[in-house]
Formats: sequence, C-alpha cells, structure tokens
Amino acid sequence: MKDFDKEKVILNVEGLQTYFKTDAGILKAVDGVSFVVHEGETVGLVGESGCGKSVTNLSIMRLVPSPPGKTVGGKVIFDGKDILQMSEKELRNIRGNKISMIFQDPMTSLNPFLKISTQMIETIRLHQDVTKKEAREKAVEMLRLVGIPKPEQRIDCYPHQFSGGMRQRVMIAMALSCHAKILIADEPTTALDVTIQAQILELIKALTEKFNTAVILITHDLGVVAGMCDKVCVMYAGRIVESSPTEDLFEHPMHPYTEGLIASVPKLDDGGKEKLFSIEGQPPNVIDLPPCCPFHPRCRKKMGICQAMYPPVYHKDEKHHVACWLYASKEEIDNALKEARDVRK
Ligand code: SF4
Repeated sequence: MKDFDKEKVILNVEGLQTYFKTDAGILKAVDGVSFVVHEGETVGLVGESGCGKSVTNLSIMRLVPSPPGKTVGGKVIFDGKDILQMSEKELRNIRGNKISMIFQDPMTSLNPFLKISTQMIETIRLHQDVTKKEAREKAVEMLRLVGIPKPEQRIDCYPHQFSGGMRQRVMIAMALSCHAKILIADEPTTALDVTIQAQILELIKALTEKFNTAVILITHDLGVVAGMCDKVCVMYAGRIVESSPTEDLFEHPMHPYTEGLIASVPKLDDGGKEKLFSIEGQPPNVIDLPPCCPFHPRCRKKMGICQAMYPPVYHKDEKHHVACWLYASKEEIDNALKEARDVRK
C-alpha cells in the first residue's frame, strides 16, 4: 500500500468546532476534530447518524447554515491558507473547483429544470477559461469517462431522464470536470441498490486514482471503508475517537466503539448462522454533554474514570491514535480521578 505520509498534505483540519444554537441548548455537532489529507489519499469518516461526519465536511466547505450553526473554532488549511478566513471570492474559487462535493441524493445538487449540458457547461466555464464549445466537449468527455452511454446525445437530457445510478455518475463527472484536488463524497451510494453501489464506488476509485484526487468519504458502512479508504477516522458524538490506516484499524481496533462497528459488519463466511452483533443503546444527545467519555453508557469495558473525564488521546504508533481510558496507566487514571474530584468540590 502507498505510503501517503510521503505525499504533500493538501488539507489540514485542526481542532474544528461547529456548534448549533437550539432552544434546548448548544449542540456541539463537531467538537475539536483534527485530521490531515494527503494528495491522492482516501480518508473515511465513519460513524452512526448524528456523529458529526457530515457537519465536519460542510464546515470544511463553509456551507453550515448560519444561523443556527456556526464554526466557532479551529482551522481548515488548504494549500497553505485557512478556508475559514477566506473572502467569499477566494471561497468561490475553491468550491466546485479545487474541492468538489457529491451527495447521497444527486437530485439535491442537480437542477431538475435544466439540461445536464447547461449545468455542466456552466460549472466548467465558471472555473475554467474556455469557450462554450470547448466546455461542452469537455463535459461530453467526462460523461464518457464515467460510463454514460452515447454522451453526445445524453448530455442534452434532463436529470429525471437518468436513473439514480446514472445521475450519480453525472454528479461524479461534474465534480471531477475541473480536476478538483479533493472530492468530498457524502454517503454517495446509500440511495442506490447494491450492484449499482459497487459500480459507483469502483468508478470513484478509478477516477480519483487517474486524476490523483484526494477523497474524503463519509459513510456509516465499514464494508465501503475497507474497499475504498487508505485511512479511517471513526467519529462519535462530534469527535474522532480513533484514527488509523485502514488495514490496521480492521486488524487491531482499539476503541470499544470501533470494535462494535467492526463486529456488526455481516460476515459472508458464517452461512448466516451467527446472530448479527449490534451496539446496544443509542448515540448520545450532543446538547450539553457532560465532560466524560460519551460512549460510556454503551461501553462493555467502561471503568470509573470513564464517567468522570473525557479520555486523552493515546498513540499505538505514529499513525494509529485512540481516545480511550483503556490505554492509560494506573497512575494517569488515579491522577485524573483526583482532578475530577477536585473540580467537583
Ligand atoms: Fe469505554 Fe471508557 Fe474507553 Fe469510553 S473511555 S470507550 S467508556 S473504556
């Protein structure tokens, strides 16, 4: 497997915090998320619904609806500049050009009233200095590349004239038509049936390898992660609880939540005899979370300290990190318990 640490870092997310103001209190959707993406690397953000993975990516693109949401802390360094501090003009140059997004439902991004040709030509001309004719040729070439049959004719169809899988192919063509450096794919195959899912994932993999595009893949599906990602960040209650190269995560999961996620992936070789594992309980409400491990009500390995203080990050090696008290020494736990008691006094 390629060693991406030798590649250039193109995105550095540092301590990202995005909160939402609600009537019930402050909802900390993303609370101190940090990770890096290297050129050509595919990074998976994994976790249950509501863990903050989609809000992380909307924050990176500065697309969080405000109000009620606001990115209140952190940095998102792209090509040496902090996206969170960019002017609207600089942002326009990044969105859809240097960083593109595809979503679960392509219809949320495609305009149903406009032909695909109009939408693709507009996108290409917005970011590249080309004539309408050249943009159309480029759009046709991209549609051919993503496997749309007869692209010279199909380009003049409306989105509803394509199937769900074909619409997602069009979205991938649009997203990659400007040779984006990063493709953010938010559950890109969840709405598609299984055989089409595999084709779309293969297509993303092949095209991003061809263009050396990095991918941030948001998914709840560890099977997808295993086949697509070089590195994985497991998210829970707005934070990354474990990050690791994919192979190491599956072979040596360290966080009990990651262990649960892996155990709940159906196995093909047990003949369907084994009962499928599921993590008991529900993800926590991230409004006014107490300063402890938010996974403790569902954790089979919890200890006293887990209910008193959020765990620090431990490093298995320089690439595999975990936030869990299981890896603390007795002395660290005793000191943390004392600190927690002092705070309560
Ligand atoms: Fe479980 Fe404690 Fe680790 Fe949280 S910190 S995952 S409760 S062992």
